[in-house]
Amino acid sequence: MVIVGGGGHGLASAYYLARNFDVGRIAVVEKGWIGGGNTGRNTTIVRSNYLWDEAAHLYEKSLQLWEGLSQELNYNVMFSQRGVMNLGHTLQDMRDIVRRSSANRLNGIDSEVLTPTDIKRRVPAIDIAPSARYPILGASFQPRGGVARHDAVAWGFARAADQLGVDIIQNCEVTGIRQVDGAVTALETSRGLIRTKKVGVVAAGHSSVMAAMAGLRLPIESHPLQALVSEPLKPVLDTVIMSNAVHGYISQSDKGELVVGAGIDAYTSYGQRGSYGIIEGNIAAIVTLFPSFSRVRMLRQWGGIVDVCPDACPIIGKTPVRGLYFNCGWGTGGFKATPGSGWVFAHTLARDEPHSLNAAFSLERFYTGALIDEHGAAGVAH
Ligand SMILES: Cc1cc2nc3c(=O)[nH]c(=O)nc-3n(C[C@H](O)[C@H](O)[C@H](O)COP(=O)(O)OP(=O)(O)OC[C@H]3O[C@@H](n4cnc5c(N)ncnc54)[C@H](O)[C@@H]3O)c2cc1C
Repeated sequence: MVIVGGGGHGLASAYYLARNFDVGRIAVVEKGWIGGGNTGRNTTIVRSNYLWDEAAHLYEKSLQLWEGLSQELNYNVMFSQRGVMNLGHTLQDMRDIVRRSSANRLNGIDSEVLTPTDIKRRVPAIDIAPSARYPILGASFQPRGGVARHDAVAWGFARAADQLGVDIIQNCEVTGIRQVDGAVTALETSRGLIRTKKVGVVAAGHSSVMAAMAGLRLPIESHPLQALVSEPLKPVLDTVIMSNAVHGYISQSDKGELVVGAGIDAYTSYGQRGSYGIIEGNIAAIVTLFPSFSRVRMLRQWGGIVDVCPDACPIIGKTPVRGLYFNCGWGTGGFKATPGSGWVFAHTLARDEPHSLNAAFSLERFYTGALIDEHGAAGVAH
């Protein structure tokens, strides 16, 4: 089997394939270097507080795998369960927060609703003044959520997969997918032809490019998504704060940098940059919540390309081409799903049928209309 894409999801898929199934030889082909895509560019927020049962179960499986991942891989992925807070600024925000929090608890997912005083106690630097332009009325809080070290996730899965015999081939770009009678026979790559009957594509922002090679169209748009970090500060923030209303989120890295992000750039692109308007709006949002951060200098900005589905949920499963499978459409929030995505995709590839956790995430939902609308839980909140 060949996995296309050496990001966290591709490497996790290869690892769980080798660990859980007897499928013969496995290769991962990566056009650049492992973890050089969105895996190494994201802001590392991990949580499972999605609204609908299907999504909640999938992300919760992933969170449970995160909780044992450093031991599993024998590699410190620096998973830090410092909690994730989603702020509410209007009465309707608070109604949505209470609804989602209740739905989470019914699914066995930890979730609390906090008052402004609770928030201030946990996050002294935040402004909860009722006179603020966007007054904070409360928040949902998932204590088991948090952050992890993104590069370590790629390296940990890669090393563990390698130890199980997986071939990881970097600087190897897939340029074509050969088929005979509607079935995959080989991949054309920048380093030669690879014959194979089974291909799992996990190429994030380039999913539609890969699909076009097989004559398929996916319901996906590729957009830039930016993030930026500040100069390092002494510890000032020990949880993750998100706000859909002001449109920004923030956490503090182990190095002391404030890690800041917002939503996607509105235009489609494969350029890993993004526009200045987003940065300006993002910083304005953060300063609204934390006026004292207005004097902090920003250090670096970058972008990745995210593959966005109409219902803000991934596509994991078979395609009309026999032997060709896609795992894509994670949009702005796939880092948290890395282990769970690999777990269910490995099952799908090995058994030629979905795992119960990804059955609802097939391509067919765009024909049947059984969409899983997670825009409320995705939004700015990655
Ligand atoms: C700025 C930013 C912030 C984010 N913040 C968060 C967050 O806080 N929490 C969260 O859960 N998610 C977040 N995300 C989303 C998350 O990063 C992605 O959903 C996730 O990393 C996707 O993982 P992946 O392994 O599929 O993708 P990638 O790491 O992008 O891996 C795909 C790989 O495929 C390779 N590839 C593409 N085409 C080919 C080809 N033709 N041949 C061979 N290889 C190919 C690429 O080079 C790439 O390495 C963020 C994303 C960005 C950009």
